[in-house]
Amino acid sequence: HEKLPSVRLLAAELNVHRLTVFKAYQLLKEEKKVYVKDKSGYYVHPGGAMPLDNLDSPIVSSYVQKSHLSEIHKVPVTYQFSYALIDPNLLPNRFFSEYVKEIFDLYPKVLSSYSTVQGDEELREALCRYFMDMHRFHLSPEDIMITSGSQQALDLLARMLVQPRDAVLIERPTYSAAIDIFRQLGAQLIPVEIHPNGYDLDQVEAYMKRYKPRLFYLNPTYHNPTGYTVPAEQRKQLVELAERYRCFVIEDDPFRDMYFESEPPPPLFSYSVEGYVVYIRSFSKYVAPGLRIAAVCLHPSLVSHFFTVKSLADNGSPLLNQKIFLHYFSSSRMQQHIEKLRTALNVRKTIMEEELSATAWRWNSPAGGLNLWVKLPESLSMEALLAKSIEQSISFVPGSICDPLKETKSWLRLSYSYISEKQLREGTKLLISMASELAGT
Ligand code: PMP
Repeated sequence: HEKLPSVRLLAAELNVHRLTVFKAYQLLKEEKKVYVKDKSGYYVHPGGAMPLDNLDSPIVSSYVQKSHLSEIHKVPVTYQFSYALIDPNLLPNRFFSEYVKEIFDLYPKVLSSYSTVQGDEELREALCRYFMDMHRFHLSPEDIMITSGSQQALDLLARMLVQPRDAVLIERPTYSAAIDIFRQLGAQLIPVEIHPNGYDLDQVEAYMKRYKPRLFYLNPTYHNPTGYTVPAEQRKQLVELAERYRCFVIEDDPFRDMYFESEPPPPLFSYSVEGYVVYIRSFSKYVAPGLRIAAVCLHPSLVSHFFTVKSLADNGSPLLNQKIFLHYFSSSRMQQHIEKLRTALNVRKTIMEEELSATAWRWNSPAGGLNLWVKLPESLSMEALLAKSIEQSISFVPGSICDPLKETKSWLRLSYSYISEKQLREGTKLLISMASELAGT
């Protein structure tokens, strides 16, 4: 029987009047959720009144939208269009399973030591060489931190940079988990529309002037969910704007290597002069999502701050995962694998587009990435389509969960990367026929 804090204590803690707490306790008493014992105070009723699903934890507070994405992912379906992940059959699983033994031979103490908080030094050196060669980043291994996926990087950067009520520019639509991360910190989200050819930079500048945002979160290359890519010229101008208005830019770049024909424009980080751009590169998508490896590139003056939030979170990512990744990353196998993957993804995208071309649905064919962002006729109800799809073992991401304003009604995200070519064709046909049934055509 848990004792509740006294009225006086709780009022002080919550910074409210004692009467307010007293009235709340009286209400709970009337509802038989608490009771008073021997005048010694208030106790939670043994009938299990405060059920666990009402847990009032700040992280499960009303800021966070119920994570619809994980709700959708929970349902096992045959035609999985909601995973922006690569088909496990296209990933180098065999290489890893054969290789892990060698890692233990090479590093016999790999499981009996922590990684450094910053991440394995050998890995950071390899990544540094790669970023300098590929993207001309001005960087040293000390400016790179290894995190457990880009999800962790984003969460830690948000905690490091954002205070409640700070303005945060965020693309509309965007990666749904990013909306939750910034909301949960109490940020004021300012949506910036992303179009097939980038942003309206006059609008971005007007927002920077007006709201003085702390940061702009963006995913400018084969953007999730739209697949759009911000052109090189805009990237440069955006970095100049960010530096002029002292607004951090978080550049989330997990899809860069997944291009179909030509390489995408350079990362914004390569235009950064004053250090306002932070670059996150995940290796989840096309190497091994289960390893949870991402790299964060930061200006030297930000490294110690990031070090603090990372050490509070977990004191460093697992060393074994970093070593396994390092040896794949440093071998020629990785480049060969990526090249094959590009072709396989392009084939799958084409299959889905071929099927969709029989409809009046609209989308912009992406030059890379894993998703099609598709507009359905407005008359069609997205909830009805999703419910019917789940019944038929199909899932997709309704556009509304990618919208910081939650207004997007007739868009959906279809990932073509996770299921086989055969299933992709069957599933797309099935989705189209269900949508026509619902629309009564
Ligand atoms: N950012 C974006 C834009 C994503 O699409 C994803 C995965 N869906 C992530 C971050 C998180 O990826 P991970 O943590 O696996 O690196």
